[in-house]
Amino acid sequence: MIIGIDIGGTKIAVAGFAPDERGRLTGSTAVRTIATPAREGGPAIVRAVTDAVREVRGSDPLEAVGVGTAGVVGPDGAITSATDAISGWAGFPLREALADAVGVPVAVVNDVHAAAVAEAEQGAGAGAQGMLMVAVGTGIGGAVVLPDGLRRGVTGTAGSVGHMEISLPPRLAERRCPCGGFGHVEAVASGPGLERTYLEESGGFLPLREVHAAALRGDALADRVILDGARYLGRALASANAVLDVEVIVVGGGVAEVGETYLSEVARTYRAAAMPGPSRARVVPARLGVDAALTGAALVGGARTDDALPL
Ligand SMILES: [Zn+2]
Repeated sequence: MIIGIDIGGTKIAVAGFAPDERGRLTGSTAVRTIATPAREGGPAIVRAVTDAVREVRGSDPLEAVGVGTAGVVGPDGAITSATDAISGWAGFPLREALADAVGVPVAVVNDVHAAAVAEAEQGAGAGAQGMLMVAVGTGIGGAVVLPDGLRRGVTGTAGSVGHMEISLPPRLAERRCPCGGFGHVEAVASGPGLERTYLEESGGFLPLREVHAAALRGDALADRVILDGARYLGRALASANAVLDVEVIVVGGGVAEVGETYLSEVARTYRAAAMPGPSRARVVPARLGVDAALTGAALVGGARTDDALPL
Protein backbone atom coordinates (compact mmCIF):
# COMPACT_ATOMS: atom_id res chain seq x y z
CA MET A 1 0.00 0.00 0.00
CA ILE A 2 1.08 3.55 -0.73
CA ILE A 3 -0.17 6.24 1.63
CA GLY A 4 -0.97 9.79 0.54
CA ILE A 5 -1.13 12.58 3.13
CA ASP A 6 -2.42 16.14 2.75
CA ILE A 7 -1.27 18.44 5.58
CA GLY A 8 -3.12 21.74 5.84
CA GLY A 9 -3.29 24.44 8.52
CA THR A 10 -6.57 23.12 9.94
CA LYS A 11 -6.83 19.49 8.91
CA ILE A 12 -4.79 16.53 7.76
CA ALA A 13 -6.12 13.81 5.43
CA VAL A 14 -4.50 10.39 5.17
CA ALA A 15 -5.51 7.76 2.58
CA GLY A 16 -4.24 4.40 1.39
CA PHE A 17 -3.85 3.66 -2.32
CA ALA A 18 -3.25 0.32 -3.94
CA PRO A 19 -1.62 0.07 -7.37
CA ASP A 20 -3.82 -1.67 -9.99
CA GLU A 21 -2.51 -4.38 -12.35
CA ARG A 22 -0.81 -1.74 -14.51
CA GLY A 23 0.87 -0.21 -11.50
CA ARG A 24 -1.35 2.90 -11.57
CA LEU A 25 -2.73 4.27 -8.34
CA THR A 26 -6.49 4.33 -8.44
CA GLY A 27 -9.19 4.86 -5.83
CA SER A 28 -8.24 5.53 -2.26
CA THR A 29 -9.32 3.39 0.65
CA ALA A 30 -9.80 4.13 4.32
CA VAL A 31 -9.45 7.92 4.35
CA ARG A 32 -8.79 9.38 7.80
CA THR A 33 -9.21 13.09 8.49
CA ILE A 34 -7.82 14.60 11.68
CA ALA A 35 -7.48 18.12 13.06
CA THR A 36 -3.98 19.55 12.56
CA PRO A 37 -2.28 20.02 15.95
CA ALA A 38 -1.14 23.36 14.55
CA ARG A 39 -0.25 25.00 17.86
CA GLU A 40 1.97 22.13 18.97
CA GLY A 41 3.85 22.12 15.64
CA GLY A 42 5.96 19.61 13.70
CA PRO A 43 6.71 16.81 16.21
CA ALA A 44 3.02 16.60 17.25
CA ILE A 45 1.97 16.55 13.59
CA VAL A 46 4.36 13.67 12.86
CA ARG A 47 2.94 11.73 15.84
CA ALA A 48 -0.67 12.33 14.73
CA VAL A 49 0.14 11.40 11.11
CA THR A 50 1.99 8.25 12.18
CA ASP A 51 -1.04 7.10 14.22
CA ALA A 52 -3.35 7.77 11.25
CA VAL A 53 -1.00 5.89 8.88
CA ARG A 54 -1.09 2.90 11.24
CA GLU A 55 -4.90 2.91 11.24
CA VAL A 56 -5.26 3.33 7.47
CA ARG A 57 -2.68 0.69 6.71
CA GLY A 58 -4.17 -1.99 8.99
CA SER A 59 -2.32 -5.22 8.30
CA ASP A 60 -1.28 -4.31 4.70
CA PRO A 61 2.43 -3.96 3.99
CA LEU A 62 3.43 -0.32 3.64
CA GLU A 63 5.60 0.50 0.60
CA ALA A 64 5.98 4.25 0.65
CA VAL A 65 4.44 7.50 1.87
CA GLY A 66 3.90 10.74 -0.08
CA VAL A 67 3.03 14.07 1.53
CA GLY A 68 1.56 17.25 0.08
CA THR A 69 1.86 20.03 2.64
CA ALA A 70 1.20 23.70 3.18
CA GLY A 71 4.43 25.70 2.90
CA VAL A 72 7.46 25.72 0.62
CA VAL A 73 9.31 22.40 0.58
CA GLY A 74 13.07 22.33 0.03
CA PRO A 75 14.92 19.61 -1.91
CA ASP A 76 15.56 17.60 1.27
CA GLY A 77 11.86 17.53 2.18
CA ALA A 78 12.20 20.11 4.95
CA ILE A 79 9.76 23.03 5.16
CA THR A 80 11.73 26.13 4.18
CA SER A 81 9.00 28.74 4.61
CA ALA A 82 5.36 28.80 5.63
CA THR A 83 2.68 31.06 7.04
CA ASP A 84 2.18 31.14 10.81
CA ALA A 85 -0.84 28.80 10.58
CA ILE A 86 1.29 25.93 11.90
CA SER A 87 3.62 26.76 14.78
CA GLY A 88 7.31 26.28 13.91
CA TRP A 89 6.49 24.75 10.49
CA ALA A 90 9.17 26.75 8.66
CA GLY A 91 12.46 24.94 9.25
CA PHE A 92 10.85 21.63 10.28
CA PRO A 93 12.61 18.57 8.72
CA LEU A 94 9.33 16.87 7.76
CA ARG A 95 10.62 14.18 5.39
CA GLU A 96 13.34 13.04 7.76
CA ALA A 97 11.11 13.04 10.87
CA LEU A 98 8.27 11.17 9.16
CA ALA A 99 10.57 8.62 7.49
CA ASP A 100 12.08 7.85 10.91
CA ALA A 101 8.58 7.38 12.35
CA VAL A 102 7.05 5.19 9.61
CA GLY A 103 10.16 3.28 8.52
CA VAL A 104 9.56 3.49 4.74
CA PRO A 105 10.66 6.01 2.06
CA VAL A 106 8.80 9.34 2.33
CA ALA A 107 8.52 12.01 -0.38
CA VAL A 108 7.33 15.53 0.50
CA VAL A 109 6.11 18.23 -1.88
CA ASN A 110 4.06 21.41 -1.57
CA ASP A 111 0.29 20.76 -1.58
CA VAL A 112 -0.39 22.67 -4.82
CA HIS A 113 2.45 20.77 -6.47
CA ALA A 114 0.83 17.53 -5.26
CA ALA A 115 -2.62 18.55 -6.55
CA ALA A 116 -1.09 19.38 -9.93
CA VAL A 117 0.54 15.95 -10.19
CA ALA A 118 -2.91 14.38 -9.69
CA GLU A 119 -4.63 16.72 -12.19
CA ALA A 120 -1.90 15.96 -14.75
CA GLU A 121 -2.15 12.23 -14.26
CA GLN A 122 -5.88 11.67 -13.72
CA GLY A 123 -7.73 14.97 -14.03
CA ALA A 124 -8.00 18.11 -16.15
CA GLY A 125 -4.46 17.83 -17.53
CA ALA A 126 -4.47 14.11 -18.37
CA GLY A 127 -2.76 13.44 -21.70
CA ALA A 128 -1.73 17.08 -22.24
CA GLN A 129 1.66 18.21 -23.50
CA GLY A 130 2.48 20.06 -20.32
CA MET A 131 0.24 21.69 -17.76
CA LEU A 132 0.33 24.85 -15.70
CA MET A 133 -1.91 24.76 -12.65
CA VAL A 134 -3.01 27.72 -10.58
CA ALA A 135 -4.91 27.41 -7.29
CA VAL A 136 -6.75 30.59 -6.35
CA GLY A 137 -7.81 30.67 -2.71
CA THR A 138 -6.42 32.34 0.42
CA GLY A 139 -3.29 32.79 -1.68
CA ILE A 140 -2.48 32.01 -5.31
CA GLY A 141 -0.34 28.90 -5.68
CA GLY A 142 0.79 27.24 -8.86
CA ALA A 143 2.63 24.31 -10.34
CA VAL A 144 4.19 23.20 -13.60
CA VAL A 145 3.91 19.58 -14.73
CA LEU A 146 5.74 18.76 -17.98
CA PRO A 147 5.33 15.42 -19.80
CA ASP A 148 8.21 13.97 -17.78
CA GLY A 149 6.90 15.14 -14.44
CA LEU A 150 6.49 17.86 -11.84
CA ARG A 151 8.93 20.76 -11.80
CA ARG A 152 9.59 21.59 -8.18
CA GLY A 153 12.40 24.04 -8.89
CA VAL A 154 15.70 24.44 -7.06
CA THR A 155 14.02 26.03 -4.02
CA GLY A 156 10.64 24.30 -4.30
CA THR A 157 8.79 27.36 -5.59
CA ALA A 158 8.43 26.59 -9.31
CA GLY A 159 5.04 27.63 -10.70
CA SER A 160 4.47 30.52 -8.27
CA VAL A 161 2.13 32.38 -10.61
CA GLY A 162 0.76 34.40 -7.66
CA HIS A 163 4.01 36.32 -7.38
CA MET A 164 4.19 37.46 -10.97
CA GLU A 165 4.16 41.23 -11.28
CA ILE A 166 1.44 42.70 -13.46
CA SER A 167 0.66 46.30 -14.30
CA LEU A 168 -2.03 47.61 -11.95
CA PRO A 169 -3.79 50.90 -11.25
CA PRO A 170 -1.64 52.98 -8.79
CA ARG A 171 -3.80 52.25 -5.72
CA LEU A 172 -3.57 48.48 -6.25
CA ALA A 173 0.10 48.59 -7.27
CA GLU A 174 0.89 49.91 -3.78
CA ARG A 175 -0.74 46.95 -2.08
CA ARG A 176 1.83 44.66 -0.44
CA CYS A 177 1.71 40.98 -1.32
CA PRO A 178 1.96 38.47 1.57
CA CYS A 179 5.46 37.65 0.19
CA GLY A 180 6.51 41.27 0.73
CA GLY A 181 6.51 42.28 -2.93
CA PHE A 182 4.37 44.85 -4.76
CA GLY A 183 2.29 44.55 -7.92
CA HIS A 184 1.91 40.79 -7.46
CA VAL A 185 -1.26 39.16 -8.75
CA GLU A 186 -1.85 37.33 -5.43
CA ALA A 187 -2.32 40.66 -3.63
CA VAL A 188 -5.21 41.66 -5.90
CA ALA A 189 -6.76 38.40 -7.16
CA SER A 190 -6.68 35.96 -4.20
CA GLY A 191 -9.84 35.58 -2.06
CA PRO A 192 -8.61 38.07 0.58
CA GLY A 193 -7.37 40.36 -2.24
CA LEU A 194 -10.84 40.52 -3.81
CA GLU A 195 -12.50 41.04 -0.39
CA ARG A 196 -10.11 43.90 0.32
CA THR A 197 -10.80 45.60 -3.01
CA TYR A 198 -14.53 45.30 -2.38
CA LEU A 199 -14.08 46.76 1.12
CA GLU A 200 -11.98 49.67 -0.16
CA GLU A 201 -14.46 50.56 -2.87
CA SER A 202 -17.75 49.95 -1.05
CA GLY A 203 -16.73 50.87 2.51
CA GLY A 204 -18.15 47.59 3.85
CA PHE A 205 -16.60 44.14 4.29
CA LEU A 206 -18.27 41.10 2.75
CA PRO A 207 -16.85 37.59 2.55
CA LEU A 208 -16.14 36.57 -1.04
CA ARG A 209 -19.14 34.25 -1.17
CA GLU A 210 -21.41 37.23 -0.44
CA VAL A 211 -19.58 39.50 -2.89
CA HIS A 212 -20.32 36.85 -5.49
CA ALA A 213 -23.97 36.60 -4.43
CA ALA A 214 -24.24 40.39 -4.73
CA ALA A 215 -22.74 40.22 -8.23
CA LEU A 216 -25.36 37.65 -9.22
CA ARG A 217 -28.10 39.99 -7.95
CA GLY A 218 -26.79 42.69 -10.29
CA ASP A 219 -24.53 44.69 -7.94
CA ALA A 220 -22.22 46.37 -10.47
CA LEU A 221 -19.35 46.97 -8.03
CA ALA A 222 -19.31 43.35 -6.78
CA ASP A 223 -19.42 42.12 -10.36
CA ARG A 224 -16.50 44.34 -11.40
CA VAL A 225 -14.36 43.36 -8.39
CA ILE A 226 -14.66 39.65 -9.20
CA LEU A 227 -14.19 40.05 -12.94
CA ASP A 228 -11.19 42.36 -12.47
CA GLY A 229 -9.63 39.62 -10.32
CA ALA A 230 -10.23 37.15 -13.16
CA ARG A 231 -8.60 39.57 -15.63
CA TYR A 232 -5.52 40.10 -13.46
CA LEU A 233 -5.13 36.34 -13.19
CA GLY A 234 -5.64 35.84 -16.94
CA ARG A 235 -2.85 38.34 -17.67
CA ALA A 236 -0.44 36.69 -15.23
CA LEU A 237 -1.17 33.30 -16.83
CA ALA A 238 -0.45 34.75 -20.28
CA SER A 239 2.98 35.94 -19.07
CA ALA A 240 3.68 32.59 -17.43
CA ASN A 241 2.78 30.61 -20.53
CA ALA A 242 4.96 32.79 -22.74
CA VAL A 243 7.80 31.08 -20.88
CA LEU A 244 6.35 27.58 -20.56
CA ASP A 245 4.20 27.09 -23.70
CA VAL A 246 2.15 24.29 -22.15
CA GLU A 247 -1.01 22.87 -23.70
CA VAL A 248 -3.37 23.14 -20.73
CA ILE A 249 -3.85 25.67 -17.94
CA VAL A 250 -5.84 24.28 -15.01
CA VAL A 251 -7.57 26.76 -12.69
CA GLY A 252 -8.58 25.46 -9.26
CA GLY A 253 -9.08 26.64 -5.68
CA GLY A 254 -12.00 28.15 -3.78
CA VAL A 255 -12.14 31.42 -5.73
CA ALA A 256 -12.27 29.59 -9.07
CA GLU A 257 -15.34 27.75 -7.79
CA VAL A 258 -17.43 30.95 -7.56
CA GLY A 259 -18.78 30.21 -10.98
CA GLU A 260 -18.57 29.79 -14.71
CA THR A 261 -18.42 33.54 -15.43
CA TYR A 262 -15.19 33.83 -13.45
CA LEU A 263 -13.44 31.08 -15.36
CA SER A 264 -14.66 32.34 -18.77
CA GLU A 265 -13.27 35.78 -17.96
CA VAL A 266 -9.91 34.27 -16.96
CA ALA A 267 -9.86 32.33 -20.26
CA ARG A 268 -10.99 35.31 -22.37
CA THR A 269 -8.35 37.61 -20.87
CA TYR A 270 -5.73 34.90 -21.20
CA ARG A 271 -6.41 34.46 -24.92
CA ALA A 272 -6.38 38.23 -25.52
CA ALA A 273 -3.10 38.75 -23.62
CA ALA A 274 -1.12 35.64 -24.62
CA MET A 275 1.25 35.55 -27.60
CA PRO A 276 -0.10 33.82 -30.74
CA GLY A 277 1.13 30.24 -30.14
CA PRO A 278 0.43 29.81 -26.41
CA SER A 279 -2.89 31.70 -26.79
CA ARG A 280 -4.28 28.39 -28.07
CA ALA A 281 -3.69 26.71 -24.68
CA ARG A 282 -6.89 25.44 -23.13
CA VAL A 283 -7.90 27.14 -19.86
CA VAL A 284 -9.99 24.63 -17.92
CA PRO A 285 -11.33 24.13 -14.38
CA ALA A 286 -9.65 21.65 -12.03
CA ARG A 287 -11.50 18.32 -11.96
CA LEU A 288 -10.36 16.45 -8.87
CA GLY A 289 -11.56 18.82 -6.13
CA VAL A 290 -10.32 18.66 -2.56
CA ASP A 291 -8.86 15.15 -2.89
CA ALA A 292 -6.36 16.21 -5.57
CA ALA A 293 -3.51 16.91 -3.14
CA LEU A 294 -4.08 13.60 -1.37
CA THR A 295 -4.02 11.62 -4.62
CA GLY A 296 -1.03 13.56 -5.95
CA ALA A 297 0.87 12.99 -2.71
CA ALA A 298 0.37 9.23 -3.11
CA LEU A 299 1.51 9.44 -6.76
CA VAL A 300 4.66 11.30 -5.69
CA GLY A 301 5.17 8.79 -2.86
CA GLY A 302 4.72 5.93 -5.34
CA ALA A 303 7.63 7.31 -7.39
CA ARG A 304 9.54 5.91 -4.38
CA THR A 305 12.30 8.46 -3.89
CA ASP A 306 12.69 12.18 -4.24
CA ASP A 307 15.51 11.42 -6.68
CA ALA A 308 12.99 10.00 -9.14
CA LEU A 309 11.44 13.44 -9.54
CA PRO A 310 13.09 15.92 -11.87
CA LEU A 311 13.68 19.39 -10.50
ZN1 LIG B 1 4.08 38.02 -3.87
